[in-house]
Amino acid sequence: MANRIPRVPVREQDPKVRAHNFEEVSYGYNKEEAMLEASRCLHCKNPLCVTGCPVNINIPDFIAEVLAGNFDAAAGVIAHDSSLPAVCGRVCPQETQCEGKCILGVKGEPVAIGKLERFVADWQHGVPGTGAVAPAASRAVVAPANGHKVAVIGSGPAGLACASDLAKWGYEVHVFEALHKAGGVLAYGIPEFRLPKDDVLQKEIDEVTALGVKIETDVVVGRTALIDSLLDDEGYEAVFVGTGAGLPRFMGIPGENLNGVFSANEFLTRNNLMKAFRSDYRTPIHAGVKCCVVGGGNVAMDAARTALRLGAETTIVYRRGESELPARKEEVHHAKEEGIRFELLTNPVEIIGDENGCVEGMKCIRMELGEPDASGRRSPVEIPGSEFMVECDTVIMSLGTSPNPLIAQTRPGLERSKRGGLVADEAGATTRPGIFAGGDAVTGAATVILAMGAGRRAAAAIDEYIKGR
Ligand code: FAD
Ligand code: SF4
Repeated sequence: MANRIPRVPVREQDPKVRAHNFEEVSYGYNKEEAMLEASRCLHCKNPLCVTGCPVNINIPDFIAEVLAGNFDAAAGVIAHDSSLPAVCGRVCPQETQCEGKCILGVKGEPVAIGKLERFVADWQHGVPGTGAVAPAASRAVVAPANGHKVAVIGSGPAGLACASDLAKWGYEVHVFEALHKAGGVLAYGIPEFRLPKDDVLQKEIDEVTALGVKIETDVVVGRTALIDSLLDDEGYEAVFVGTGAGLPRFMGIPGENLNGVFSANEFLTRNNLMKAFRSDYRTPIHAGVKCCVVGGGNVAMDAARTALRLGAETTIVYRRGESELPARKEEVHHAKEEGIRFELLTNPVEIIGDENGCVEGMKCIRMELGEPDASGRRSPVEIPGSEFMVECDTVIMSLGTSPNPLIAQTRPGLERSKRGGLVADEAGATTRPGIFAGGDAVTGAATVILAMGAGRRAAAAIDEYIKGR
């Protein structure tokens, strides 16, 4: 199991410089670095890494192709199971998935599977830093048209993964998206400095449309169109609902209606989808001089790092400790490097306003960790009498999101769980025949790759359903 070559580090933008721009933090591997890292893989007979990947990419096979310098063939191996490798290589929590299972991780550092996946996808897209001279043709294989038509609602990772598989099997697939841009959270939530939109996300979406998938934006299903009319009048034989979980939660504390309090979703949407950070756009945004972001997940890190880049001195306020932070370790590390402050074991109790109704501070209380709660994490308990003030003029609430109820409200018989998600089985079948669902719309806020896995499972179930009719 010994492997003497240390994991190849990835080059990154200097934290002092990147704290003032929206360019990508990580430069990724070049050809030589990727081949060196690929040489660390042991090509295990029983590759545990694959069991950790929710879409079951044949990891040792694609790494073997990287090692041999056959990057086009590596892209073909990945394309069999994933339509968004440049996205996943950047944002997946590999440390708890494929890399978390890699055998090399038992005594040392796992193979950098995510960075290799990103390299292959970027090389295929002709990204200059990889050493590619031109974009390579897509390696996905598409079957002849089978005459069946499926509608997909929502163009996030769940919808795109479902649509891609169905298109590869010969289905005519139409995706309906409420916003003016496809991509779901990848487009409106995750910032440019982690996931460039034009150079990375759009290229992967173009690969999906190259399979024959049609994406129609500005269509809110439940308002502009109804599921029943898609099924009964427009010839779709099945519908996949991948509408995500975009409804922000608030704390319910006094002062949350003051000017200067935002949900992370609104703040990030203004910046990412509506390009508030760019001088050639006129989208208003308010990061303030001193900004507090409440929460400890990926969304909180993204909001804090965005506020910092917009010029605010930024503090993350989180009610548990460092080891309980739900954000990816890499994101926490990057946030600290860039100068974000962390007030851990701290919870807001009230947001204080001035005479104009604008935020001028936040009253917080210190917490300590008590017994484990239902999630298995030790629950935070207030320390009586420990209240203190934090000076700030902006507060961004990043406390999680819930699925939007619109689809279930406008399609009788679609049951919802107590947490607001659509009820669906492992394969994505809902309580109505012909209607399938997956991703955050079912589970509540989760991850890109889990949403993609759910989209793929639903595609297989839709295929079976239509063939069995
Ligand atoms: P979404 O991506 O939410 O897409 C749903 C789409 O459906 C949206 O485009 C929405 O506009 C559309 N829609 C909704 N209702 C309708 C309707 N009625 N009609 C038509 N269209 C509709 N995960 C990671 O793995 N790694 C990360 O680093 C990470 N960072 C994140 C950072 C932020 C800021 C956020 C918000 C989330 C992050 N996540 C991350 C979580 C991840 O992005 C989501 O779990 C994932 O995008 C869910 O995919 P989805 O397809 O289910 O839904
Ligand atoms: Fe390679 Fe690690 Fe997977 Fe083994 S577990 S095949 S070493 S990536």
